[in-house]
Parts: sequence; C-alpha cells; structure tokens
Amino acid sequence: MKRRFPYATRLRQLPPYLFAEIDRLKQEAITRGTDIIDLGVGDPDLPTPPHIVTRMAEAAADARHHRYPSYEGLMEFRQAVAEWYRDRFGVVLDPATEVLTLIGSKEGIAHMPLAFIEPGDAVLIPDPGYPVYQAATAFAGGTPYALPLYPSNGFLPDLESIPLDVLRKAKMLFLNYPNNPTAACAPEAFLAQAVAFARRHRLILCHDAAYSEIAFDGFRPSSVLSVEGAKEVAIEYHSLSKTYNMTGWRIGFAVGNADILAGLGRIKTNVDSGVFQAIQLAGIEALKGPQDCVAAHCKVYQERRDVLVEGLTRLGWNVPRPRATFYVWIPVPPGHNSTELAKRLLSEAGIVMTPGVGFGPHGEGFIRAALTVPVDQIREAVERISKISL
Ligand SMILES: *Cc1c(COP(=O)(O)O)cnc(C)c1O
Repeated sequence: MKRRFPYATRLRQLPPYLFAEIDRLKQEAITRGTDIIDLGVGDPDLPTPPHIVTRMAEAAADARHHRYPSYEGLMEFRQAVAEWYRDRFGVVLDPATEVLTLIGSKEGIAHMPLAFIEPGDAVLIPDPGYPVYQAATAFAGGTPYALPLYPSNGFLPDLESIPLDVLRKAKMLFLNYPNNPTAACAPEAFLAQAVAFARRHRLILCHDAAYSEIAFDGFRPSSVLSVEGAKEVAIEYHSLSKTYNMTGWRIGFAVGNADILAGLGRIKTNVDSGVFQAIQLAGIEALKGPQDCVAAHCKVYQERRDVLVEGLTRLGWNVPRPRATFYVWIPVPPGHNSTELAKRLLSEAGIVMTPGVGFGPHGEGFIRAALTVPVDQIREAVERISKISL
C-alpha cells in the first residue's frame, strides 16, 4: 500500500505482524456467526478482586489524586513493592532507588533499550519470545540477536554458544521465566549462570518475571535478584496485570540495580508522567491486601490446564504439562506447521490459538493456547478438535 505519509524506517523494519492474518480470519468467523473459543490472547478473563476495585473507586473520588503523579511513583507504592519482594523472595530493596513504578511492565521493557543502546549495539533476546524485546531493541537502533529456545534445553538459551564477536557488541540480555510463550520455568542454577554471564560480559540483564505468581502444583518461581551479586547487573520486571487480573489498569514495576533503573527513569521522565495515583493506591491494596485471590486464580488456571493437556493427550497429541503461566505450548502434530494448523483450527473448529512462529522463527512447530476462558469452553475446544481430521 502506498502511504501518503510513509512510516519511518524504524517502523517499517519491524517483522511483519504474524498475528494479523489470524486476527482477520477470527473477525471473519465472528461476522459469519461462528461461536469462537478464543485461546489466543493472554488476557485474564476473571475480574480484578473486589477489594482492589473498591480501593480504586475511593481513591479516584479523592481530588488529591487528580493531579500529575510523581515520575518515579508514589513512595508508598514503592515501599509496598519492597515489602512484597522481601516477603516473597527474601530480597531487600531500597524503595527510593531500587524500585521504579511502570505503566505496566511492557512500558518499562519497551523504554529500556532507549536508555542504554547505541546504534549497532547488540541485544540478546529469546526466540521464541515476547515480541516487545525485539521491537524495543529496533526502535533504539540496536541489533537483536536471537537466542534460540529448544525443548531439548528446557527452553533455556545456551549462553555459552553466543559467538564472541556478538558478545563484544552486546550490551543487554532479556530473559523471561516463567516464559511466555513456552511456559518453561528456569531453575535457580540457570538464573545464577545468567547473572555470572552478564557480569563476565558486562551485560545489563533484564529479567521479565510477569508470570512469577502464576504457578501450579505448589511450585514457586524464583527471582533473578535472589542470586548473589545479581543487583550489580540485573533488574527484574513485575506486573500486577497477570497476578491480580489487572491488565487493563496499567501498573507494574521494575526492581534491582539502581543505575539501570535511573537510566530507564530518565527516559520515562521525558515520555510519560507516571501512573494515576488512584491506580497506585489500588496497587498497594493488591500487594498488601489478602493474597488468597492469587491462589484462587492459579487454581482456576490449573484446572483448565489439566482439562486441556489431558484432553489433547487422549487425542494422541504430545503436550507437556506447564508448571507456570497461563499458556500451554503445544507441539504441532506431525505433518503440520503452526500457521496452517492455527488457520485450520479456526476455520474448522472455531478455535483461536496463536501460531508459535509469531513469537520468532524458533517458535515454529508449536502453537500456544491461553487458558483464559472458562473450563467448559476448554472441554468444548477439545471436543471440537477431536472431530476434525488432522
Ligand atoms: C503480559 C506480559 C507482559 C506485560 O504485562 P503488562 O500488562 O504490561 O504489565 C510482560 N511480559 C510478558 C512476557 C507478558 O506476557
């Protein structure tokens, strides 16, 4: 298409949006009146717990919160983060310098390379991975270097195989565990190895822990900051979005190395004006209030996971049972590729799943199902899949 106002190179250079075709087919199916089961988007279907909503409503009515918030976030919110972090991970943080409030963790991820990456610098990013790492790198003029994630490695990148000439140009390493889209979890030994690697090669280690609280069967994912010396090189992103069903509210935070956070904060000062204070007060309520809602959410996802994994296994699919996140990363049955399978599931069964290749070339061979619909719809999805011949 010829545009009257052509996009800048930084936009044009982004990889094509591979989900656009699926989105279009989904819209067409909805227009035709198909009863769609949408396992596509990773957006919790359950509501935000009522005590958090109530706190927000009170705070929204208070005129003191109607003005510009502070850039780095309310001190009380950052203190609540530090307390939550100490209780959850046993890591002590200085709320003044080691906690930064974000407009959702996506915002903090997207802005990070702008603070530290020069044109030509390499940024190491997982493939498959959350697409923002790559886009953010490209916007800053950096060069993304893909770290392939293989099932044989438990979807942990082989850091030692990165060529030396890449490492010489590399300034930043993004990791994400529990992982979207593969649902893999990192053992503490791997996080320790990543910290040692970042220290040795002078890399900024950005660990995206958006799913640290969405875990099953009693499993508790670790923080990279629990690793001795991690604070010298690492920050960690957290989000209230997935933990408390608050994706629409836009609040998250980054914690860890004060210099790295100051750089990110400097970018933010020039771009945004912080998070609505009423939302920060609701965030404090989320972090300091009763936590049984989190266990209840996990229980719901766990049941959905079991219905999907066991259902597909009965159909002869080979589906590993994830220990965390609300995704199931499903190996595509032999003879298919992820895009073609996604299209067939949509056109023949009215089911939306995300083709793995949309998360990077090494996502090919997999399709991602998000457990964000009621369990009876998941049962129905398995039933529909059993009726199509793959
Ligand atoms: C959902 C998600 C985020 C972003 O969450 P926010 O709503 O922006 O806090 C970050 N990383 C990963 C891997 C995600 O899946």
